[in-house]
Amino acid sequence: MSAQRDWYEKDFYKLLGVSDTASAKEITKAYRQLARDNHPDTNPGNDAAETRFKEVSAAYDVIGDEAKRKEYDEIRKLGPMGPFGGGFGGNGNFGGGQGGHSFNVGADGLGDLLGGMFNRGGRGRGASAAGGPQRGEDLQASLTLDFVDAIQGLTTTLYLTSDAQCNTCNGSGAKPGTHPKTCSQCGGRGVVDDNQGFFSFSSPCRACQGRGVVNEQPCPTCRGSGVERKAREVKVRLPAGVADGQRIRLKGRGGPGRNGGPAGDLFVECHVMPHRLFGRDGDNLTLKVPITFPEAALGGDIDVPTLTGPAVKLRIKPGAQSGTRHRVKGKGIETAKRTGDLIVTVEVHVPTQLTGEQQAAVEALAAATILSPRAHLLNLQSTADPEV
Ligand SMILES: [Zn+2]
Ligand SMILES: [Zn+2]
Repeated sequence: MSAQRDWYEKDFYKLLGVSDTASAKEITKAYRQLARDNHPDTNPGNDAAETRFKEVSAAYDVIGDEAKRKEYDEIRKLGPMGPFGGGFGGNGNFGGGQGGHSFNVGADGLGDLLGGMFNRGGRGRGASAAGGPQRGEDLQASLTLDFVDAIQGLTTTLYLTSDAQCNTCNGSGAKPGTHPKTCSQCGGRGVVDDNQGFFSFSSPCRACQGRGVVNEQPCPTCRGSGVERKAREVKVRLPAGVADGQRIRLKGRGGPGRNGGPAGDLFVECHVMPHRLFGRDGDNLTLKVPITFPEAALGGDIDVPTLTGPAVKLRIKPGAQSGTRHRVKGKGIETAKRTGDLIVTVEVHVPTQLTGEQQAAVEALAAATILSPRAHLLNLQSTADPEV
């Protein structure tokens, strides 16, 4: 099964014959010695040595790595039931699977994965067993933002519902005045083992839903789960430049930790409303601006709106073509890292109606136009076609 499963079933320190306070140097030294002694090359045909070699390698893989060792130590602190036992704050539902992986966290790294696991399961064997610090629940929220707010950043209040300890039973799940009983199926471990040859699988105990205890008289408020849904207000500051669909992680703004454990994280999925005029391309803002034929032909300064400030002057060079892009420096999106530009695409506007004076002027222009812009197209076509 997965390596993570091993993490709370195996004592890697014991496997390497070191104490759990051993230094990194001591761990490496112990591993090297054991790996040398049990190496398949020096023990041909010795299955026991090979198994031992694999075990010590797997152990060193975890406690020989500073970050992994830290995670491993945290898991061990939760007691023999591991993440299925001590965790509090989750929804108390295993998703029906064998240690189902329906985490409510996007697992972008092992730390997150484990963080999610801490939230799983119910109440363990009651407060006495779940003594260690527990990380709070990771929470999800979605937020629809105005275009300008997304670009400037925003402080807002989110209204969340999250799991919290039931007030009636203080999380025990038992009706006040009664006590939960240790589950007879799993002996309170919350997991049952299923040995299949060399491998041993554990799955959450069905009799107690992995909680290790059974309430003969469940708490009427939480129906025995020990957990209640509670509404909560969270004030959040979103950084400037949030993009549509972006998921923002607000560290420590999730569910509160227990027994001195850290709070979970809050993940906010942002939906940004489109703007009437402006578009967005990374850190740049985009804008289409119509210009007249005389402005395109003769050039000149035109006024261009900006998203939040006053209009700015943009110089159009004589002979500007429809669809050409002009850059207004520093009028894009200002994030903590850099400031983008405003990219203006000019489009030559053709009037649908002309006054008599304009009609005469355009006719005079037509008369003065010697060369058709299509002349070269017609030339190319006649040379390509041998029949003409
Ligand atoms: Zn309750
Ligand atoms: Zn059980």
